[in-house]
Amino acid sequence: MDFAAECATAARALDDFAGRAALRQGPVIRQEPMADLARALDIDRLIAEGGLRGEAFERFLATYLGAATRLLDPRYMAHQVAVPHPMGAVAALIDGFTNNAMAIYEMGPSAATIEAAVVDWMLGKAGWNAGGGGVLTHGGSLANLTALMAARGRVAPEAWREGTPRDLVVIAPEACHYSLARAVDIMGLGQKALLAAPADDEGRIDPAGLERALKGRRVLAVVANACATAAGLYDPLRAVAEVCRKAGAWLHVDGAHGAAALLSSRHRGLLDGLELACSLTWDAHKMLRAPTLCAALLVRQAGDLDRAFHEEASYLFHDKDKPGFDFIHRTVECTKSALGLRLFMVLAAEGEAGLARFVDRQFDLAKAAARLLRARPGVEVAVEPEANIVCFRVDGDDARQLDIRRRLTARGEHYVSTAEFRG
Ligand SMILES: *Cc1c(COP(=O)(O)O)cnc(C)c1O
Repeated sequence: MDFAAECATAARALDDFAGRAALRQGPVIRQEPMADLARALDIDRLIAEGGLRGEAFERFLATYLGAATRLLDPRYMAHQVAVPHPMGAVAALIDGFTNNAMAIYEMGPSAATIEAAVVDWMLGKAGWNAGGGGVLTHGGSLANLTALMAARGRVAPEAWREGTPRDLVVIAPEACHYSLARAVDIMGLGQKALLAAPADDEGRIDPAGLERALKGRRVLAVVANACATAAGLYDPLRAVAEVCRKAGAWLHVDGAHGAAALLSSRHRGLLDGLELACSLTWDAHKMLRAPTLCAALLVRQAGDLDRAFHEEASYLFHDKDKPGFDFIHRTVECTKSALGLRLFMVLAAEGEAGLARFVDRQFDLAKAAARLLRARPGVEVAVEPEANIVCFRVDGDDARQLDIRRRLTARGEHYVSTAEFRG
């Protein structure tokens, strides 16, 4: 196998794919029936006979890319996954080929060093340089679970041995990401332990109501959105954090999507008060242009994370002679990709200021889109956008919205998603 030649084939095909997408040539989304696509890709024969190289590889790639959803097309506005930066994609290739599973330092010293640096950089943005800690995970869902595990280590240190106490509750906005419901389930708590935080009309946490809700309850964690998925609204973090502080409750901020605002001097105020929280989920594969996956779980006090998967952190300090840090004690995962490289190479290519400009531009585009939509008769914009999410509807009921989306998607001309907001 000629690695360089196959890479060159792939690079040419991807370059062409990206160029066409940027020029809006071809559909932004095209969904052939799976069985037809499987035939076109010649999957069964390739598995049975092999031979994917050279011209066969070129043919396969043409079909594959022909049916791929084109995130690089400006008409792609649907889901939160990053439009990847080319250097981030190159990072994923390097990671795939070196395959340094870096959760223990000796398995990937350069990858681990970069993860440590990226985590430190993110901690700095959160205001947690002094004493903070973190880890990169394969996704924000896993980061949210890890946050609740870290909270459990603080609130109920006996739980590692005895199991999660059944009287613990998690208080989160109704509009929280579904990964929190799963995390609560995985921890053995059952959905009745996930309580809806009192909220205003637009779904933001109401701090006074939260204060009342915390009374008399044994709280595993309070979760705040920064921002929520449907309409992109940020919870009032400072007020929420102050209530949590008074009650001694762990505050987890789910910033999977919106923590990117921390890069922007114009928008970081949306996360004002974050420095008082205990933990933060932040996906670099949402707004920081890293390819999937690259998520971070950050904590204000590193010790909380070191205890997340153990009663005691003492095993971390045994005498093994280690020139670097083992992230493995902080994660659900054992084998772990060099996730940091994906964000680092984007950052290193653009510089921090370049990435900040990107975030600002996304936020500005959302505001401009909201203005355009509002100017159209029969279109209603739910809320003034705070991040890069624009929630709107066309005159008519839910069925009409779904029908419009179905038609747009079928034509492949635009790709938007649907969400439920305020019913
Ligand atoms: C995307 C998202 C998640 C889940 O992150 P994954 O990386 O998709 O697992 C969690 N919370 C919020 C607010 C999100 O936007």
